[in-house]
Amino acid sequence: MLDSYAVIGNPISHSKSPLIHTAFSQQTHQSMQYAAILAPLDGFQTTVSNFRQQGGKGLNVTVPFKLEAYQLSTRLTERATIAQAVNTLKFENDEILGDNTDGAGLVRDITLNLGIPLATKRILLMGAGGAARGVILPLLQQKPFMLAIANRTPDKAEALQQQFVSCGNVVAGDFMSFPDERFDIIINATSASLHNALPELPAHIFAADALAYDMMYSHEPTRFLKFAQQNGARHLADGIGMLVEQAAESFFLWRGIRPRTKPVIALLKSQI
Ligand code: NDP
Repeated sequence: MLDSYAVIGNPISHSKSPLIHTAFSQQTHQSMQYAAILAPLDGFQTTVSNFRQQGGKGLNVTVPFKLEAYQLSTRLTERATIAQAVNTLKFENDEILGDNTDGAGLVRDITLNLGIPLATKRILLMGAGGAARGVILPLLQQKPFMLAIANRTPDKAEALQQQFVSCGNVVAGDFMSFPDERFDIIINATSASLHNALPELPAHIFAADALAYDMMYSHEPTRFLKFAQQNGARHLADGIGMLVEQAAESFFLWRGIRPRTKPVIALLKSQI
């Protein structure tokens, strides 16, 4: 019997994870299968339990279940503990290991795929939801000069600043709180792009040579990326690379093999 993995979420039909993990398993010659599971909004735990009983080895977890996955885990990696959210579950005997690979995926995409170092940079992270929380520590571990967290509801950004202040130079506010700063790297971790909305940002925050990164991806540039380009950002990237890199981290956790991501990123780009 093939080892069985899946992505679980609601909705789930849009998920690219089956495509990504099927490509990884073919590339690395792993005997495994990977499916997409739609869990009822009030049925995450039961759906996971059924999957385990049928011999499932691991799950990717997506919206809206990352917090429930965190609570369900019997052991957590350090990065999942800090993110307080889990996007990868691994089942071993009686244990449910919870991990969060989003931050590692983002950092690998920026530093390795895009070739842009984060050390000494001024970074603006927009958003204070699950995705933002998961990337803060991995970003700080790259030793940027500063990390500014900006959120529509500034209290949430300030709470994150308090949580991470001992890990680096972290400031917080709303989108208009840093009118005199020029950022080298501006990451949109809000869900605004999902609704074709644009957070109200000052136009001149992009440093010369800046990277604008939207965690969202779609067949055409998001409003944020268009705004960044109009206002001087030199490099633009969407979240496809992060998506594939976070999947590769999950795959490594499950199978102990790191797949090559570049061909899979190219495959995904050709299909979106
Ligand atoms: P959450 O729902 O947890 O957080 C949403 C965040 O967006 C909050 O900070 C919210 O602010 C802010 N927000 C929502 N609408 C607007 C708006 N119109 N203007 C300004 N801010 C807004 O979502 P996640 O953190 O889980 O996901 C965020 C994005 O990241 C999504 O687009 C998701 O698809 C993407 N993502 C991509 C990944 C990848 O691999 N590429 C991985 C994970 C996420 P407030 O607090 O004020 O409500």
